Amino acid sequence: MVATETTTDAGTTEAGRDFIRDIVQADIDAGRVSEVVTRFPPEPNGYLHIGHAKSICLNFGVAAEFGGRCNLRFDDTNPMKEEQEFIDSIAQDVRWLGFEWGQHQYYASDYFEQLYAWAEHLIRSGKAYVDDSTPDEIRAMRGTLTEPGQESGYRNRSVEQNLDLFRRMRAGEFPNGACVLRAKIDMAAGNINLRDPILYRILHATHPRTGDAWCIYPTYDFAHGQSDAIEGITHSICTLEFEDHRPLYDWFIENLPVPSRPHQYEFARLNIAYTVLSKRVLTTLVRDGRVSGWDDPRMPTIAAQRRRGVPAAALREFVRRVGVAKAYSVVDLAQYEHAVREVLNKTALRRMAVLRPLKLVIENWPDGTTETLDAVNNPEDASAGSRRVTFGREIFVEREDFMENPPRKFFRLSPGREVRLRYAYFVTCREVVKDAAGEVTELRCTYDPATRGGDAPDGRRVQATLHWVSAADALPAEVRLYSTLFARPDPGAGNAGDVMADLNPDSLEVLRDCLIEPALASATVGEAVQFERQGYFCIDPDSAPERLVFNRTVGLRDTWAKLNSAPLPQRGRG
Ligand code: ATP
Ligand code: MG
Repeated sequence: MVATETTTDAGTTEAGRDFIRDIVQADIDAGRVSEVVTRFPPEPNGYLHIGHAKSICLNFGVAAEFGGRCNLRFDDTNPMKEEQEFIDSIAQDVRWLGFEWGQHQYYASDYFEQLYAWAEHLIRSGKAYVDDSTPDEIRAMRGTLTEPGQESGYRNRSVEQNLDLFRRMRAGEFPNGACVLRAKIDMAAGNINLRDPILYRILHATHPRTGDAWCIYPTYDFAHGQSDAIEGITHSICTLEFEDHRPLYDWFIENLPVPSRPHQYEFARLNIAYTVLSKRVLTTLVRDGRVSGWDDPRMPTIAAQRRRGVPAAALREFVRRVGVAKAYSVVDLAQYEHAVREVLNKTALRRMAVLRPLKLVIENWPDGTTETLDAVNNPEDASAGSRRVTFGREIFVEREDFMENPPRKFFRLSPGREVRLRYAYFVTCREVVKDAAGEVTELRCTYDPATRGGDAPDGRRVQATLHWVSAADALPAEVRLYSTLFARPDPGAGNAGDVMADLNPDSLEVLRDCLIEPALASATVGEAVQFERQGYFCIDPDSAPERLVFNRTVGLRDTWAKLNSAPLPQRGRG
């Protein structure tokens, strides 16, 4: 696939619109909605990933485009899995992506008292009951897609009895799992979500926000739609796996005295090849120490991508191009990397760094002297100016830019071959020095003083231009090269869903003996630079002043083009 072909706006219509924006526009045109209110509703049980970025850009984007607002709401209904660290990271990531919610930061836990009152309302109208069945019994009686469920023996308790039991549940009289509150809908419903779903369970657990005030917690299904109604959400946008829950959400709204009626619209999740966008899997990777943390630059989390050097603008542009659709699809990694490269190409300063150094000595260089040469900071941006680089008798080039016995198409350094050193001179390799083991340790070269700046007055040409650093002032650095965390485009597909079996053992390569030009010492953490001929890099927070650590954000060229030219195998969603 050619890089430019990956920029088609899949899923959007000619006008740059998608079906969600069409629905919103129609609601405004018909006067059904005056102010558009959306929300991004993460559960704070992990860090956000690139898939969430799609939902964030959609919800905040729609609100901004139609002059409405978007709330940030934490769906914090499960204290067993939720933590303040996740709440903080989510807020930071959404802000970093470029979106602001002002004072509209909410929590499902803000509504616990109201949700509880509505649960009692359902009990009083005979539409909810306390069930003492064990979780296993409830599961067994739920039925299957082809068989109806069975009614629980506790289903016909009186209103008084249910109210009393539910209040005692709240008061903490029962241990975890002793009983649940269920909606009384229809155990024979074709949609399993309507087979008396659980509304409340007992959890003696401390909640990050409500502490020990509650020992019963609403289920996500019971909290979600009502939270939307409380906040006056006009368009509840979520991913397709909640399509089957919509009838249940509508049932709650119809059977409760809620202040507004939200409508839910579902779109397809973002999937990216070689990547798993699931907090459950990402949590396992972190917990099992397969990565260094949530922000390990190999992780698809927003925090990791930021640390790796991906600009927020590139993430936004990527999800814009992917578009919003209802059909399941897997996006090429090349498409993501293309968006990253495109932004960095415009902004990143060019620098020289040698990742695997090989010493090159210029024998005819005047002893004890150095020269400074002009080097362009960014050919894409004249205002970025230029810098001075030191050149001298001893420099370092990339080990892989030399071959003693080159094949026909290798045009870089080899014995007798002349090449250009970027911004400097033509040099010719005269001799190869090896150690006892036969490994090349040094190249002895000559330079042509007439080629200063990179051109020969006699018009003679060379077929390669190499980057280099000067032994006189190069600084040591560590460089971390990343490849995909998973070894196959569809992790898990070949191992009965076991994604861990598909981890790429070579996803991280650490180079500890790199040499960088001194101008890089003033780069700041996160700032993007291009190492000429190698890719885009940024300084990692692990850096110390005397020992900089760089992450490779993305290579210069599309290494995935070939790999991905075959169609990807399809996978079930979820
Ligand atoms: P995960 O499956 O990774 O645990 P989730 O859907 O459980 O994700 P939530 O915190 O509930 O995570 O997600 C918040 C919002 O982000 C939801 O509206 C959800 O639909 C949306 N979202 C999650 N993953 C994706 C994705 N891959 N693409 C688009 N939207 C997503
Ligand atoms: Mg979820």
